[in-house]
Amino acid sequence: MTKPLRIGIAGAGLLGRLLAFELGRAGHDVHVHDPADGPLARGAAGWTAAGMLSPVAELETADERVFRWGLRSLDLWPQIVAALPQPVELQRDGSLLLAHREDLGAARRLLDLLDRKAPAGHQAESLPSEALRELEPSVRPGLQAWLLAGEGRIHTVQAMEALAAAATNTTWHWTSRVDSVEPQRLVTGSARHDYDWVFDVRGLGARPQLPMRGVRGEIFWLHAPGVELRRPLRLLHARHRVYLVPRAPDLVVVGASEIESEDRTPVSLRTTVELLAAAHSVVPALAEARIVHSETNLRPALPDNQPLLDVVPGCTRINGLFRHGWLIAPALVEEALESLA
Ligand SMILES: Cc1cc2nc3c(=O)[nH]c(=O)nc-3n(C[C@H](O)[C@H](O)[C@H](O)COP(=O)(O)OP(=O)(O)OC[C@H]3O[C@@H](n4cnc5c(N)ncnc54)[C@H](O)[C@@H]3O)c2cc1C
Repeated sequence: MTKPLRIGIAGAGLLGRLLAFELGRAGHDVHVHDPADGPLARGAAGWTAAGMLSPVAELETADERVFRWGLRSLDLWPQIVAALPQPVELQRDGSLLLAHREDLGAARRLLDLLDRKAPAGHQAESLPSEALRELEPSVRPGLQAWLLAGEGRIHTVQAMEALAAAATNTTWHWTSRVDSVEPQRLVTGSARHDYDWVFDVRGLGARPQLPMRGVRGEIFWLHAPGVELRRPLRLLHARHRVYLVPRAPDLVVVGASEIESEDRTPVSLRTTVELLAAAHSVVPALAEARIVHSETNLRPALPDNQPLLDVVPGCTRINGLFRHGWLIAPALVEEALESLA
């Protein structure tokens, strides 16, 4: 390690927590500023995410960089989780793509695209019906299924809590909104905080310094004690994408809409009908599940929907993680810390 530095981080969302955890355990003196009123305030998009870790399926919209960062992060997450004092649910034994027969045309178009974009060895593997029944007995028989081996999921709420609790050498400055991030300096109102190095990970809050936009996403938590699901499921529907992600204890997270709007108001009727009808069509036993929670949040995106990792002396900016934050954050943080060294 380099000599211990005094580090300022603007933003205590997913990236801010991961950075604090890694920099703190490397022995730096870390200060995190965030307008939230405490570690459990749920404003960051990181809380709302379903936690799919899907480098191949995300190739539908992402580029090869995201795929590589995703693969690397799939290796890093188990090491990070193992170093956390609180348990965090993490699974890496694949995800399933599913399609109803009437949607096979749309599904095949997507599978062809993934086939072209994914490097050899990462292709979706068609599953015969007996294999599907064996892997996921709750899925409706007769659905077409493909396995994406090696993909997984993480319990985002547990991870957000555990990362903040585990960060050593870290001072959290809550209710501290950073108005501007400059090399070696964070500005909050009329106060200037000088550091050896600063990180700008404010997500949408990085405006106007970065041309961020928010993309509305809505999700549901279903309490479904009798439903046995092990892997994330993604329904390839002609009109929308719907995924189901199992989460302890006895929950299934159903998501997510993707709407070009910064409206943070509660989930709409249309999204409710579409997502939950689709979820039920995949796992019929969800009929008796209870809707225990719904949530809306905004994914921080840049105009090209690509992630940004920008380093100048004294300042690193990471943003635009859009719909892949949990998938790629560990690898981005690793790269950012290499450039710091
Ligand atoms: C519905 C939904 C589902 C998703 N599902 C997945 C998924 O399955 N898999 C996946 O990989 N990703 C998913 N994502 C995306 C993922 O959540 C984001 O990419 C990720 O949270 C971005 O991390 P971040 O740290 O950049 O931003 P955030 O997690 O949003 O954190 C930004 C932080 O900056 C703080 N902040 C804002 N303004 C300021 C300021 N002025 N000063 C200081 N701090 C500030 C905020 O309070 C917040 O704490 C999903 C997102 C949504 C909304």
